[in-house]
Amino acid sequence: MVYQLPKEKVNVVHDDDLENFLEELGVLKKFKKGELKCKFCRVSITFKSLHSVFPQSGQVKVVCDKVECIRQLSDLLRKGTVKL
Ligand SMILES: [Zn+2]
Repeated sequence: MVYQLPKEKVNVVHDDDLENFLEELGVLKKFKKGELKCKFCRVSITFKSLHSVFPQSGQVKVVCDKVECIRQLSDLLRKGTVKL
């Protein structure tokens, strides 16, 4: 899994660290309740489908692992619109 946090910094986090990582971001509870949704297709994100996590407009955004969503994410990153 790949995480963009912040934009130029890509962190690869092991599955074991994922809960801690989400806890640090303050979204672990939401994540476990299935309330974190893909920024692009609005599907509920699970441990399995989580592709990336990044901050935008002071909120934590997540992206699922669908090819279409990953493509949209890379477009977004290329345009530099992801900001803390
Ligand atoms: Zn998606």
